[in-house]
Amino acid sequence: MPYCADAPSPARARTTTVRAVFLDRDGTLIEHKPYLRDPADVALLPGVREALAEALDRAVKLFLFTNQSGVGRGLFTMDDVHAVNRRMIDLLGLGASPFAAICIAPETPFEPSAYRKPSPRFIHEMLAAHAIDKESAWMVGDSPVDWEAGLNAGIRTAAVVADPLAAQHEERRAALGVPAHATLLAWLRSCDQCRSE
Ligand SMILES: [Mg+2]
Repeated sequence: MPYCADAPSPARARTTTVRAVFLDRDGTLIEHKPYLRDPADVALLPGVREALAEALDRAVKLFLFTNQSGVGRGLFTMDDVHAVNRRMIDLLGLGASPFAAICIAPETPFEPSAYRKPSPRFIHEMLAAHAIDKESAWMVGDSPVDWEAGLNAGIRTAAVVADPLAAQHEERRAALGVPAHATLLAWLRSCDQCRSE
């Protein structure tokens, strides 16, 4: 079953203007190591801590949205995914959780999917639950499934190409017309709508 749980929002993220960023994990926030299961192997990508801190300062809600087919393939468990997420959150140093909600989709690509990207279901549910307009929401990731999830949800979509493995998706990114940014921080700083009001 998917694990898509609400977490308390950091106090500094509370605001009357609701903007949101849905963030892929592997290759976007941390180095992409296929079927990562050991928290000791978690490594933040350059600029990620600064980007998330800056987003929270701008009162942008952050949502973590990650496909983890290794669970469905029997390579590791949801507890392993939670442990990796905890390590990432510890490394970020932005409090108990910088994320307003987390969605972990454990299905393989070969079985019926509830939340697995490119499904926009989690995005749709969070936009409704947090009263966020589509025009005020972004999906940011390094893979075609991330961009397709954002496009399927009808929200803004951006690519980060900080991870070396992102290069394999360049052709698909260009075909989808998704803008590329060197790092998450570069994307945030280019994002006019993400600025404080
Ligand atoms: Mg990724």
